[in-house]
Amino acid sequence: MTWLAALMAAVYDEGMGPYAILARNLETVRERIAAAAERSGRRPSAVTLVAVSKYVDADVTRALIRAGATDIGESRPQQLWHKAEALAYLAPRWHMIGHVQRNKAERTAPLLAYFHSCDSLRLMTKIAQARSRHAGAPLPALIEINVSGDETKHGFEVDQAVAALDHALALQGFNVRGLMAMSGIDSDSLQARREFAALRELRDRLLAKGYPAASLHELSMGMTRDFEAAIEEGATMVRIGSALFEGV
Ligand SMILES: *Cc1c(COP(=O)(O)O)cnc(C)c1O
Repeated sequence: MTWLAALMAAVYDEGMGPYAILARNLETVRERIAAAAERSGRRPSAVTLVAVSKYVDADVTRALIRAGATDIGESRPQQLWHKAEALAYLAPRWHMIGHVQRNKAERTAPLLAYFHSCDSLRLMTKIAQARSRHAGAPLPALIEINVSGDETKHGFEVDQAVAALDHALALQGFNVRGLMAMSGIDSDSLQARREFAALRELRDRLLAKGYPAASLHELSMGMTRDFEAAIEEGATMVRIGSALFEGV
């Protein structure tokens, strides 16, 4: 733990409680991200940590934000609504990383800083329209691709990527920034790495077709079990939950 984190822990009088553990875990994860970025020839700042708070309540999420997490990921709309209201005064950047049913689009869209999980054309239309109606700025959005082919996973098939991207780029409420994927449930580390490489290669094929680089800059891939491989394969955003809550 840095002296600053130690001081903050003392100030908040949370001792070696959850706050200090979160601060330490956050620092460990950041160090691992930085090391992986350097192995891939990039700066640590080229990789954004999205701290996934879906396992914990608003109080622990608050401690996570106070410990320095700025970008917070949730996979369920209702949980995000609840925390966004409870923690509004801390103004974290909320990332939706899970499946959103279309009837939840209206309420979710204005709260987000980032939408990772665009997994159907109709959902994209709904979210973008809601965004245009309620909030000024277009929503930074990523197209979710099912690189593992798991039937339980959401996301577009690789061969649907062009259609999905064309659709997203035409939406006024969207600012398309790249692609998102998860490795397969049963994938071992070698297979996960292949899946991450497949997302990067898809991105490169889309660039070669002439799609704008600014719309394909971000690759959101990698979670606790595989984020280092994801960074080595080009991830610019990693979504990490479990590793932050060890021992809390
Ligand atoms: C839960 C979740 C994560 C974080 O997973 P951990 O293994 O806990 O790091 C990342 N991405 C998505 C889409 C998730 O649902």
